[in-house]
This record gives sequence, C-alpha cells and structure tokens, in this order.
Amino acid sequence: NAVVHWFRCDLRMRDNRSLYAASKKARENGVPLITMYIVSQQDFEAHLVSPARVDFILRTLRVLREDLAKLDIPLYVETLEKRKKIPGRILELVKEWGSDHLFTNAEYEVDELRRDASLVRECLEIGVAMDVLSDTCVVKPGDLVSKSGTQYSVYTPWYRAWVAYIHENPLLLDLSEAPNKNLNGARQKYLKLFESTIPNEVEHKKLSDEETERFCSMWPAGEHDAHRRLIKFIDERIGGYKAHRNNLSEQSTSSLSVHLASGTLSARTAVRMARDHNRIKRLDGGVEGILTWISEIAWRDFYKHVLAHWPYICMNKPFKLEYTNIEWEYNQDQFEAWSKGRTGYPVVDAAMRQLNSCGWMHNRGRMIAASFLAKHLLLDWRIGERYFMEHLIDGDFASNNGGWGFSASTGVDPQPYFRIFNPLLQSEKFDPEGEYIKRWVPELRGIAGKAIHDPYDRGKGAEAKKCGYPERIVDHKESRDRCLARYKEGLGRK
Ligand code: FAD
Repeated sequence: NAVVHWFRCDLRMRDNRSLYAASKKARENGVPLITMYIVSQQDFEAHLVSPARVDFILRTLRVLREDLAKLDIPLYVETLEKRKKIPGRILELVKEWGSDHLFTNAEYEVDELRRDASLVRECLEIGVAMDVLSDTCVVKPGDLVSKSGTQYSVYTPWYRAWVAYIHENPLLLDLSEAPNKNLNGARQKYLKLFESTIPNEVEHKKLSDEETERFCSMWPAGEHDAHRRLIKFIDERIGGYKAHRNNLSEQSTSSLSVHLASGTLSARTAVRMARDHNRIKRLDGGVEGILTWISEIAWRDFYKHVLAHWPYICMNKPFKLEYTNIEWEYNQDQFEAWSKGRTGYPVVDAAMRQLNSCGWMHNRGRMIAASFLAKHLLLDWRIGERYFMEHLIDGDFASNNGGWGFSASTGVDPQPYFRIFNPLLQSEKFDPEGEYIKRWVPELRGIAGKAIHDPYDRGKGAEAKKCGYPERIVDHKESRDRCLARYKEGLGRK
C-alpha cells in the first residue's frame, strides 16, 4: 500500500498543496509516499513546449529527485511517447503499487481538465480516490464572481475582488509544509523507483551542446534557484519595480516566470513573501513597488481564471469572437524577418533576438514584438503566439494567449484595436539610450545618438547599410492605416 503524488507543473517540494496532502495522508495511513512524473514527447509537442523548457524540466527533475530522496521519497520517472497512454499507465502504476489514493494539482487547459475528469472516474472504478487540488493560482478559478454573478472579463475590478478575497480569506496565503520523511524501509522497498531513468533529452526537443550549456548557466533549474532569485529580488529590487519595470535595458523585473511556469515556485509563496516584506503586510497599501509586483503575479491568476471559464480560447479562437472575421496576412518572408529579428525596426529586432537567445523576453519587448506582428504586419496573431510558445522557457498557455490577445486586441481586456504601438516611440521611451538595442543587435553598436532607434531615417542609412542591418520591411504610417482599415472591416464598422 502507498499514497501517490503525480507531479506535473508543480516541480517543487515547498508549498506544494497536493504533495503535502499526499504526504499527510500517507502518514495517517501509515503507508509510504511515492511520487511520479511522466515524460511524454507527444505531450511536449502537442503543447508546443520549447526545447529550452523541456531541458529546464528535465534538469529540475534531477534536483527534485535528490531532494525527495533525502526524505526517502522516491520520484519515479517514466518516459511514454504517446500522450493518450498516460492515464492508462497511471492507473497501472497506482494498482501495481497497491495504492488507493492518488493526489495531483489541477491544470486548467482543456485537454488536461478532460484527462483528469476521466481519470478521476476510472480511479473510482478500481477503488482509488483521486484528489485534484487547487494549487497553481493564489485564488482558485471560479471563486471570484462579479456582482452580477458572472466571471470577470476586465482585469481592474477582478483585481480589486482578488485582493479583497485574499484579505477575507487570509489562509489562502498560508504556505504548505514540506512533505514528511517516508517510513522506514521505503527506500529499500522502492529502490528501483529511485533509480528510474530521467532522460537527458527528448526527441524533437533537443538543444545543441552550446545551447545546453548556455541555458544551464542562464536558468539554473530547481526550486532552490527560484528561492534564491525571489529573495534577492525582494531584498534588492522590488521597491523600485514600479518605476523601473518598463525599462528594457535594466534587470529590474524578477525573471521568475520560468519558475512560476514550471512550478518550481508557487505563486502563493511569491505573493506571501512580497506581502510580508511590505511594511503594512497587506496587498492594498504600503510600498508601491511591492503592490505593483503583486498585481503582476495577479495577471497570471487572471489569465488562468479566464482560461478555466472560457475554454474555447484553447481552441484557436479569439476571446472576442467578433474579431474572428479579421482578414490576416500569411506572408512567410515577413514572418521570417520578424522571427529572426530582421524587420528593420531595432527595438522589435532586439526583442526577438533576446527571445531567440535566452528563451525569455522582457514584458515590454513582448508587447512591442506582438503588436508589431499583429498590427504592422497584420499576420495572424496565432502564428506569433505559437512562435513564442515554441521558444519561451517560461511558456505558459494562459499568460501567452492573454498577452497575445491583449497586444492584437482580440483577447480578454485587450488594448483597443485602434491603439497601435509606434515602435520608434516605444524605443525612445523604454530604451532611451539604445542600450537594449545595442546589446541584442550588435551590428548597430556603432550608431550614435538617437539614430539608434531609426538608423535609416535618422542616421540616413549609410552606416546601417554598411553593417548589414536590414531596411524596414514595412512603413509605419502605411501599416498603421492598413491595420485600422482591416480591423474596422473585420468588425463591420464604418
Ligand atoms: P515580473 O515583472 O517580475 O513579474 C512577476 C511574475 O508575474 C511573472 O514571472 C509572471 O508570472 C507574472 N506576470 C507578469 N506580467 C504578466 C502578464 N502580463 N501576464 C501574466 N503574468 C504576468 N508570461 C509567462 O509567464 N509565460 C508566457 O508564455 C508569457 N507570454 C507572454 C506573451 C506576450 C505577448 C506578452 C505581452 C506577455 C507574456 N507573458 C508571459 C507575461 C510577461 O511578459 C512575463 O510573465 C514576464 O515578462 C516575465 O518576466 P518576469 O518574471 O521578470 O516578470
């Protein structure tokens, strides 16, 4: 007999609701706790998980296994190519281990919800209780309803309700304890599980040796790095977050998204530690930088609530269905130029090259690059959304879909369609000295002064041409006019 915890996007021991509940149950029943993780190539492919993220997950599993082993808890890892086989295999394993209790944390994407719903039923049929706990969001999707009894679709009132709800239910920010040490003899009994293979790589999701080394040093895996980063950010930068977060060249944000996406850090822990650092220990007053940062973590919750309530956004549909009729372009050359960072708009190119090199992009860069694809190039935003997922180390369906919907104006609580970022103004405002551009577009390093933002017009082009920097693939004003006309047409407006 045993109790089982199935890890998915919660690859940590600290503050893990399901892991702790499983450990507690095991202790109450006087049986060992077994944990498991299933690696599935097809699952990674279906979810467009980037090679950098797959590598991060595999590296994290090693850290997790080592930490769990200190408590004599095995982490059993199995590789299954076909995702359809996952539920059946879970049932087999649970039976094989003689367990009557399976725990896991909820995931809100449609496929995952369906899979878990049928697994709960199948478990019941064989006398196994499956508990799916709420862990990934600070406030569980569905718990916040507007006065009219509906799910919020605008962030600001939702956020006010989110803060009030946490204040009314302070236990939400109570952190779960780490699991208990396993029973004597568990290590011996499950020796084989401790030794199961964690693959070094997954077919079609491989990194080159150079990339592996680069990503390893840029993004150390596991929850210890998450904690180190969180504490450092809170100690050193959170106070100035509001004032500096939009500056592209500064390291003023937390870079914790990779950990929040893989679950090496819980959103609860992030909010709790930030709140505790706030002198009034609340979410609605005190240090502005702290409140702003917490409100960004809340965006993550918001987009997951939206996903759970309107699952059709998982099916390639815009949140705002009235935007379905916009006629998008499918120009392969322009998409190539955008994705490679060769549009002739330095700030867009810098952002895309940052993504291609780091698997991460500054939030302002994400907004500029996404808006450029959807509005200047009028390319179908879903192609850009896909490209981001395939390259981000922090790829998260709800946040990525939300960010693209915001930028393309097709999503929940978006920027209005007629608001079209001017890349030149964005560049001057958020990278005034051109440091971000120079870092990521090295061929422009020799361009002096303001010409860095617009080397062909302001620098008259000679210098830029010499160093091989491309000319603009589209004109700003023409693109803007075309975009307004196309959106209006799609929306049936005069
Ligand atoms: P910080 O500024 O330190 O914020 C702390 C945390 O709050 C982040 O780690 C993240 O978990 C959350 N957060 C911050 N801003 C947002 C936001 N706008 N929406 C949702 N959560 C937010 N974030 C992802 O985690 N995964 C994605 O796939 C993703 N795709 C995006 C695509 C587009 C087009 C846009 C505009 C934004 C996207 N974001 C995504 C949101 C945001 O850009 C990143 O979370 C942020 O840049 C990560 O850096 P950080 O950890 O330093 O953030």
